[in-house]
Amino acid sequence: MITPFASPPGNPRHIRWLLALPKFGIILLLTALLALLWLLHRNEIEEERAALIKDVLWLEQNLQFHLNSNEEQLQQLSMDMNTLSDSRKVFRLRAEHMLRNSPEIAQILWLSPDRKVIDALPSTAPPEQEIETFGPSSIGKAFDLALHIGKPHYSDPFFLEGNRAHVELLVPIHGEGQQISGMLALLYPLDTLLANQVPWWFTEKYKVEIIDDNEQLYAAKTRIEGNGDQRYVIPFDPPGAGLQLRVTSYRTPDNSVQRSLVAAIVLLAAGVFWSLWLVRDLMKKRSRAEEALRSEHAFRAAMEDSLTVGMRARDLQGKVVYVNPAFCKMTGFSVDELVGATPPMPYWAPEQLEESYAMHQTVLAGEAPPDGFEMTFMRKNGERFNALVYEAKLIDGNGKHTGWMASVLDITERKRAEELARQQQEQLQFTSRLVTMGEMASTLAHELNQPLAAIASYNTGCLNLLANGQAQPEDLRSALEKISTQAQRAGKIIRRVHDFVRKSEPKRAPCQLGDVIEDCIGFIEAEARKHHVRIECDTPPELPVLADRLLLEQVLLNLMRNGMEAMAGTPPAHRVLRIGIASSASELCISVSDNGCGIPPEARDKLFIAFFTTKPEGMGIGLSICRSIIEFHRGRLWTEDNPHSPTGSGTIFRFTLPLESA
Ligand code: ADP
Repeated sequence: MITPFASPPGNPRHIRWLLALPKFGIILLLTALLALLWLLHRNEIEEERAALIKDVLWLEQNLQFHLNSNEEQLQQLSMDMNTLSDSRKVFRLRAEHMLRNSPEIAQILWLSPDRKVIDALPSTAPPEQEIETFGPSSIGKAFDLALHIGKPHYSDPFFLEGNRAHVELLVPIHGEGQQISGMLALLYPLDTLLANQVPWWFTEKYKVEIIDDNEQLYAAKTRIEGNGDQRYVIPFDPPGAGLQLRVTSYRTPDNSVQRSLVAAIVLLAAGVFWSLWLVRDLMKKRSRAEEALRSEHAFRAAMEDSLTVGMRARDLQGKVVYVNPAFCKMTGFSVDELVGATPPMPYWAPEQLEESYAMHQTVLAGEAPPDGFEMTFMRKNGERFNALVYEAKLIDGNGKHTGWMASVLDITERKRAEELARQQQEQLQFTSRLVTMGEMASTLAHELNQPLAAIASYNTGCLNLLANGQAQPEDLRSALEKISTQAQRAGKIIRRVHDFVRKSEPKRAPCQLGDVIEDCIGFIEAEARKHHVRIECDTPPELPVLADRLLLEQVLLNLMRNGMEAMAGTPPAHRVLRIGIASSASELCISVSDNGCGIPPEARDKLFIAFFTTKPEGMGIGLSICRSIIEFHRGRLWTEDNPHSPTGSGTIFRFTLPLESA
């Protein structure tokens, strides 16, 4: 058996699951990749922040270092001014030196304990004016504090020269016995401090600002524009007093690669999803096709199992490649015994091996009769059966001829039934002849009576002549000759009767149509005489036909007797039964016409149906037998009205016989 599917594929639910797995995997992968990118980004930000803090701490230390160093120098100066003799000279010298080395310092002042400016470098303004600034301002407070604690102290930021913020460092000068003999002051403009102490590379990256707790801006240094997203604030002490250094990073990270990566990942994921969707569509289609194929296969299998016709497929070399259950049942062989078999096949009858092989070759040559052919097959148990085989080309899905498919019908039963029907038909024909003979028996007896009576009377005459002694040989001869003639006549009648009721197989043989008709007339003429029917016939002398003479006689006799019976009501003068013969190139047409009662239209269709009769004593099988006999001779039998009838009614029965058979 051909089994297109070894195992059924997964159901649609299974396929959905299979397709969901890669989707799920891709979503997970995508999430992991995006998370990784996010982590990297966060890492980068943290690293940036760490770098920012580091830089800010460095800057703060650098500034502190400078401020502390200045403070130390100023302290040293204060001590030296106390110990050395020429304080003014020392102040000038050292202050000048400091101003040269520390450009962030705007001014160095020497003040008396009562806040009077003793000296200042650079002295840009008169000392009186300068002192004013030490009055009630924040510097004044810082001065008092430094004086009070006797240690260096920074002032709060204050604004000078317009809006420039400054801080001032105040360092007390200790005189004899720890007395404060004066005060040294360093003036720092905060913007100059930043300008000089924040290196260029720092300002390339960051914006540096000095603010206080209230976010008031005192000084700033930057070379870049824009909004920073990272900033760090650190206390700026010294100078302290709530000042803070605020550093803002302007370095915008270059996210283009990252963004491109994300876009590429998302695009790739979308591409994979799209291709998955296509695959899903494809698999759905495939699954639908498989489903259709499965039901098609199930349908085909059910059809095959229900078939009573045997199916057998052979390849181009004649090897059996497929048989259906019906064929196995028919032959009694199993699928395994048949599939793969090569000639001689196990179901070929041994006595017909040659014929079977010849037919096998004919089929392979593509010359098998299209209307099928009969073969005798053998079952596994040795029983023979008649098979009717139809062969057709086996074409595969690509339109390629791959072998031959045969449908095999076991016609043994049909043949048996046909044979039975034939025998029954023969029996019926025979019975019909017996019936005809029975009906004609009295006429025939009468017919036979005449020669017998003549023989008896000639015989009596002869005996009388002999008894009188007057018997002349010549007289006796003539009488004996007449007896012989009458005996022959009687013998002919008996032979006809014998021939007619003889039982024989129907067999077509060449015979003369004229003789057949003459015999029939001879048979029926006594009855015709009795019924005052005239029989007219112009039979051609020589008309050979291929027919079963007895059956042909039966047809003619039946038609003639029916015609005679139909004329029972016809005036005797018109009781004429006419037998005509017409021939064409292919067939002979024999007609039997009468001037009888005719056939009513409603009866015309039923005439040839068995047991249809209008006669009280009739059996109704005559015409049906006539038709089957004529069809056996490959002819046709039909009826027409007789248009030439002098009575206005009458029937013509016509039948044909093919001429090629003669
Ligand atoms: P049967 O003669 O026993 O009735 P047939 O089969 O020979 O059986 O005829 C069937 C019927 O056909 C007859 O009963 C008759 O009615 C009709 N029939 C046959 N031949 C003729 C004819 N020549 N004229 C009129 N009717 C006919």
